[in-house]
Amino acid sequence: MMTMPKIALITGVTGQDGAYLAELLLSKGYEVHGLVRRSSTSDVNTTRLKWLGIENDVHLVDGNLLDLSGLIRTIRDVKPDEVYNLAAQSFVKSSWQQPILTGEVTGLGVVHILEALRLERPQTRFYQASSSEMYGLIQEPQQSEMTPFYPRSPYAVAKLYGHWIAVNYRESYGMHASSGILFNHESPLRGIEFVTRKVTDGVARIKLSLAKELRLGNIDAKRDWGHSKDYVRAMWLMLQQDTPDDYVVATGRTTTVREMCAIAFAHAGLKIDDHLVIDPELFRPAEVDVLLGDPAKAREKLGWQAEIPLEDMIREMVDADLERYRAQGARA
Ligand code: NAP
Ligand code: GDP
Repeated sequence: MMTMPKIALITGVTGQDGAYLAELLLSKGYEVHGLVRRSSTSDVNTTRLKWLGIENDVHLVDGNLLDLSGLIRTIRDVKPDEVYNLAAQSFVKSSWQQPILTGEVTGLGVVHILEALRLERPQTRFYQASSSEMYGLIQEPQQSEMTPFYPRSPYAVAKLYGHWIAVNYRESYGMHASSGILFNHESPLRGIEFVTRKVTDGVARIKLSLAKELRLGNIDAKRDWGHSKDYVRAMWLMLQQDTPDDYVVATGRTTTVREMCAIAFAHAGLKIDDHLVIDPELFRPAEVDVLLGDPAKAREKLGWQAEIPLEDMIREMVDADLERYRAQGARA
């Protein structure tokens, strides 16, 4: 007997995680739809899907988390079995520059999509992209699902609203809404403004004589960095459980920005002290000094664990950035 493919809708499909999640769901036989916010340069929107070679396999639908009526129409048309809400203004530093927009998209955007689901298709399983930034000024040395939150940026405050509104819709309406509290995760598809990609891109440019220095802010900050490819697997696993729940997704290892940089420079055969410049302009109004996740629950309940070590990921990212510049004609 023929079984119908499951239908998934991904908001934020043009972002890092959206691209890898679409790839994963396609490999599992899903029909994948992705919400895309219109821009005047639409060819740039799908760069990451193109990079993975799946741009023709994802059904793209125009939409915006700020537009409730469009979301309702999308849910009515697509009839998804699973919705992954990855769309957000996701860059912490920008959230001080655009606090209201960040609140509207990253916070209230979540209730827009939840309302569209409640009204049109409440049986749909829902994933909310929560963040370790919600722990901010950490209240425990290693953060688990039980650790109290203390957000330290407009982004983290908005994510906290998104997290609790997902929990609230689960408890109020019995919806299958799960929240993944994901620690930082990176890849060659990471946005260039985030520190890992800024470093691997900078190292590639220095190696190819396109730049001499790399300017960074607080290199003493510590993060629990994993690979996006591993982390989208955890998102999918959450929606395959009989009961919805919240999970920390992390590696359980924390590393300074400085040590992460050292891996990148060494891989390119460069000396970090010859090129790294500390720029006070790049420090943040309030910093999250250290994050370290406890992934025990995800391991026990989902059978999930991170597989790609930081060193391998950073080397993969440096190689990908070197390749991008070489493809444009740059030489060492
Ligand atoms: P990303 O690369 O910045 O992607 C964000 C996505 O959101 C993009 O597709 C963007 O579309 C879309 N978007 C922004 N505003 C929108 C709006 N108003 N309506 C519809 N779509 C909109 O982020 P990511 O790294 O893949 O992360 C995915 C999610 O996980 C985000 O919610 C992020 O905050 C969260 N998260 C990420 C990490 C991490 O370390 N990566 C950790 C914890 C949580 P455009 O292409 O048009 O900009
Ligand atoms: P975040 O954890 O979501 O804010 O991810 P980022 O990759 O943007 O930043 C991680 C850490 O790197 C933060 O503590 C930043 O303060 C620190 N950092 C130091 N220099 C830079 C820089 O030049 N750019 C970025 N994005 N972060 C930097």
